[in-house]
Amino acid sequence: DRSLGDLDPEIAAALTGELARERDTLEMIASENFVPRAVLQAQGSVATNKYAEGYPGRRYYGGCEQVDVIETVARDRAKALFGAEFANVQPHSGAQANAAVLMALMSPGERLLGLDLAHGGHLTHGMRLNFSGKLYEVHSYGVAERDHRIDMDQVRDAARQARPKVIVAGWSAYPRTLDFAAFREIADEVGAYLWVDMAHFAGLVAAGLHPSPVPYADVVSSTVHKTLGGPRSGIILARAEHAKKLNSAVFPGQQGGPLMHVIAAKAVALKIAGTAEFRERQQRTLAGARILADRLGRLQSHGISVLTGGTDVHLALVDLRDSDLDGQQGEDLLHAVGITVNRNAVPFDPRPPMVTSGLRIGTPALATRGFGEAAFTEVADIVAGTLARSVEPDELRNRVRALTDAYPLYRGLEDWRLL
Ligand code: PLP
Repeated sequence: DRSLGDLDPEIAAALTGELARERDTLEMIASENFVPRAVLQAQGSVATNKYAEGYPGRRYYGGCEQVDVIETVARDRAKALFGAEFANVQPHSGAQANAAVLMALMSPGERLLGLDLAHGGHLTHGMRLNFSGKLYEVHSYGVAERDHRIDMDQVRDAARQARPKVIVAGWSAYPRTLDFAAFREIADEVGAYLWVDMAHFAGLVAAGLHPSPVPYADVVSSTVHKTLGGPRSGIILARAEHAKKLNSAVFPGQQGGPLMHVIAAKAVALKIAGTAEFRERQQRTLAGARILADRLGRLQSHGISVLTGGTDVHLALVDLRDSDLDGQQGEDLLHAVGITVNRNAVPFDPRPPMVTSGLRIGTPALATRGFGEAAFTEVADIVAGTLARSVEPDELRNRVRALTDAYPLYRGLEDWRLL
């Protein structure tokens, strides 16, 4: 019964260090967030001990009465939050949710049409080295060179040519909303299923601040840990007609025992996502991204701009193709002043993938920390001053420190022991 600090000081020290890192830096990786203490508690609970292969009421293990309650509540909350007929809350991650979706909707060798990885798509939408690229015949659409937006005429042409079994709409790096009705129309025309991967924007959808794909798509997958603000994991929503094959694709198709502690944490996060406070937080997320895009869009004299000239979502994509600064250098400069972002290839990127000409900068984590318009304006100025190299790094570091001090994170937690 020894505590972690006593039993394993090495890991305890790294966890304490991670808490300090999260507190003392500005987290602007667009796919990250901070979960509330209630989610940490559920995830760090005894439910991690329980095997529960199967589904509530139909398990392959005894002793599932409490975890049945947990999973049923999580499913009901997911359905209610997004207005879906069916929910599966067992996927361990977004990638595993997507593997199950593809397994349910198509057979190996059939054709999949998705957004090109180099234009903002995800690995699981058909990247060559991913299972999706190995198992299926992948065709892709991209953004138009003139405005960097997805061009629905190009999607329609690609669909007519490829005649895919599944069309996937969704992205990891794209700053605008998608036209789900147009995707539905194209899918119907070519006889394809429409799958939407809303991993990035699910929190905005939950808050009613982004169009919902649920009325249009056959299947919707998501992560729970990005804008949605829950534990690292995935969910699948669908029309009732797809329920059986999706359940069987998750278990036994892709997974064994579900992570019941994570499902408990998902349930808590889904409850929070239905509140007025959550909606207000998503409004600040969007406002922050707009402030950032607007400020960085005024650095043209430095060869710096933002793709599509702005944003409708929780991130901005900085375009460094005309700058002597590359993505790696931009990421490093921001890291040196205490801001964490990730470099990201931009469409038509002339630089290699390990270097890139872009930065993906998101606001969900800072909005969770409490940042509003004034704080985001200061953040945008700090980022602009860093990338333009127009302000001394020491001054920028001090300004970052002033913000992290003004918006304390996990107040009351001394270290991992108090979780
Ligand atoms: N789908 C999209 C659109 C994503 O951006 C991501 C994460 O980067 C995933 C799926 C995969 O999620 P995970 O990292 O949980 O496997």
